[in-house]
Amino acid sequence: MAGHEVLCLDNFFTGARMNVEHLLDHKRFELLRHDVCQPLFVEIDEVYNLACPASPIHYRLDPVQTTKTSVLGAINMLGLAKRVKAKILQASTSEVYGDPQVHPQPEEYWGNVNPIGVRSCYDEGKRCAETLFYDYHRQNNVNIRVMRIFNTYGPRMHPNDGRVISNFIMQALMNKPLTLYGDGLQTRSFCYRDDLVDGMIKLMNAPDHISMPVNMGNPNEFTIKELAELVLELTGSKSRIIREPLPQDDPLQRKPEIGRAREYLGWQPTTELREGLVKTIQYFEELHSKYTQAEALKLVQAQ
Ligand code: UDP
Ligand code: UDP
Repeated sequence: MAGHEVLCLDNFFTGARMNVEHLLDHKRFELLRHDVCQPLFVEIDEVYNLACPASPIHYRLDPVQTTKTSVLGAINMLGLAKRVKAKILQASTSEVYGDPQVHPQPEEYWGNVNPIGVRSCYDEGKRCAETLFYDYHRQNNVNIRVMRIFNTYGPRMHPNDGRVISNFIMQALMNKPLTLYGDGLQTRSFCYRDDLVDGMIKLMNAPDHISMPVNMGNPNEFTIKELAELVLELTGSKSRIIREPLPQDDPLQRKPEIGRAREYLGWQPTTELREGLVKTIQYFEELHSKYTQAEALKLVQAQ
């Protein structure tokens, strides 16, 4: 819509063609099946590198491939950006802070990360990708942007990707019990998709000296139990809430400090959780009513 030509790469491990189907006929949009672990030679001006499964159940399916995607993917995309002198933005993550001992998390915090746990393939892969970004910047003068994304949600999420918002909504719509892990007092801060995309574009367009990492997320913090209750209220579901064990290395608290994004980009999220959930529930309701569960899963599943 801004007039750019867009080349969209996906290996469809967790993404689905259905998510970009409405763009396929657009004259400036091109879709290419490609894995960033392989080199890519194209002519471009900007790279948004979001490649890597981000849901714990997906990134644990093949942890070696997860690390490769972050590390080899970063090397290839940085090599590409270096060759064509493109700006390159890395979608990093709040997981670089691990189970944080500082709350909320400012960008200066170095994190508390287990290097050998079940989440490490994702956390350490993304940390190494950041290292590569800063070394290509210092060594090869590559124009980089690094955003650390906190929990994000919205329409076109995978209904079965195991993340808390999609799980709770799908469970509520199917009148199945909501699976609350642990005591539900762990906290997260949820950012609506449109706010995040707006921040991402602002960071790409920011002046070149903004090369430090920038947190992006919604600083409003909720316990997972509060989220479960809100989803029940908004769906009108009669589901019960049941307890399940807390997964290993599950961070207890997470909330972004977004002063940098506010100061340098004039960015802050504007969508309240309740408002974003209503739109997300609507998306999942459509998916749920139009298709059987098996059909819906097939549509959004890796192809
Ligand atoms: N690369 C790529 N596309 C390009 C330029 C480089 O995929 O347009 C890959 C290249 O295959 C290499 C990686 O990016 O494996 C890193 O490139 P760089 O030039 O930094 O390192 P080198 O080629 O010297 O290993
Ligand atoms: N969670 C939960 N029930 C679920 C899925 C997740 O209680 O069905 C919890 C999970 O233990 C974590 C939080 O919700 O504390 C967020 O989990 P998610 O996988 O969405 O993202 P994370 O922030 O852990 O990467």
